[in-house]
Amino acid sequence: MAHRHVSAAKSRPSTLRAPAKGARAGRLFAVDIHCHILTPEAEALVKPHFRPETDPLFKFASPETREVNRLQAQSICDRITSVETRLKVMDKAGIDVQAVSTAPSQYYYWTDPEIGRESARLINDRIAAAVAAHPDRFVGLGTLPLQAPDLAVAELERCVKQLGMRGVEIATNVQGIDLSDARFRRFWAKAEELGILVFMHPGGFSDGQRLAQHYLINVIGNPLESTIAVSHLIFGGVLDAYPKLKICVAHGGGYLAAYSGRMDHAHAARSDCRLHIKRPPTRYLKKLYFDTIVFTHHQLEYLKDLYGADHLLLGTDYPYDMGVDDPLGFIQGAPGLRSEEKAAIAGLNAARLLRIRVPAKAKPKAAPAKKPMAKKSAVKKSAKSARRAPAAKPQTARKPASAKRGRK
Ligand SMILES: [Zn+2]
Repeated sequence: MAHRHVSAAKSRPSTLRAPAKGARAGRLFAVDIHCHILTPEAEALVKPHFRPETDPLFKFASPETREVNRLQAQSICDRITSVETRLKVMDKAGIDVQAVSTAPSQYYYWTDPEIGRESARLINDRIAAAVAAHPDRFVGLGTLPLQAPDLAVAELERCVKQLGMRGVEIATNVQGIDLSDARFRRFWAKAEELGILVFMHPGGFSDGQRLAQHYLINVIGNPLESTIAVSHLIFGGVLDAYPKLKICVAHGGGYLAAYSGRMDHAHAARSDCRLHIKRPPTRYLKKLYFDTIVFTHHQLEYLKDLYGADHLLLGTDYPYDMGVDDPLGFIQGAPGLRSEEKAAIAGLNAARLLRIRVPAKAKPKAAPAKKPMAKKSAVKKSAKSARRAPAAKPQTARKPASAKRGRK
């Protein structure tokens, strides 16, 4: 399967086309937590073993969706593989640093363990090479062969200790097995021990029999997957057992935020909802981080109200068409966010979690009132190992015009 990309839909350039006026005007330090890279060598490695039924995004797709996916795969081929093109797009969008992760179509959890390990190593080496070539513009989020948890833990250690990665990207289940399963405990324990960020990104909905039309396997399937995965992490006791885990959930965390009160009600009402946790489920939910790919200001502001501005991270879904054209303009234009909250969401939160050095001029002058923004001062701790900081970008207050644009 040549260049079959996960978030495919329309074949128009997404982040390439918008010169991000909001980004330039705002001059915020910006880190993109959600952006993908494709590794052709890994694709070639697994191609002889591919079976369509192993991948929900391929399996649950109408002929129309398959055609749009095919066209998009062609149109984004350069952007998802070329580092130089990536840098140009970042400059246009005002992104200082990308936290690069693999295209979810390359998790390859369906392969035999040895092939899975080899493909993960190829992908991680490619990400590490991009970071090494441009250490001021990229940090790496590795991929792991989670179908073989012992191999996954070994690769996780290699990613962090040898390749200098700041985190990993994982799917929301592993071939239908939920991440609360006992076999993954060793992974969660190691991720907590290493203090890395786990970026959780779905690869289509596992039971998508009714989602093949209209690209629903992605449009609602991906957020639904995250909703289910987070619920398992909470009710299954993972977040209780590993309280220091740092997890960022893609696409605004899915649908759980909209109806989280139901979890707490169930926990209080039913003993079968208290098997692994003592505290109300939303206590655990609020420990997670979420990207900003929610498309409307009311939802972004709702997430801020629910989780706090220090739990939101700018994302683009580069280079897919389900991504955001002007991520900084979107944040800048949110009428319900204060300027220090915008700065935190645009890049300072991610810098803290990923140990990215922030230019002095981009640092906040005072912490927002709601929650402390740089609790553990990870930036300070990692000064030695952190990537060289990008050129300083002074912060300026937003003009009203940006709010107007953001409401489009
Ligand atoms: Zn994505």
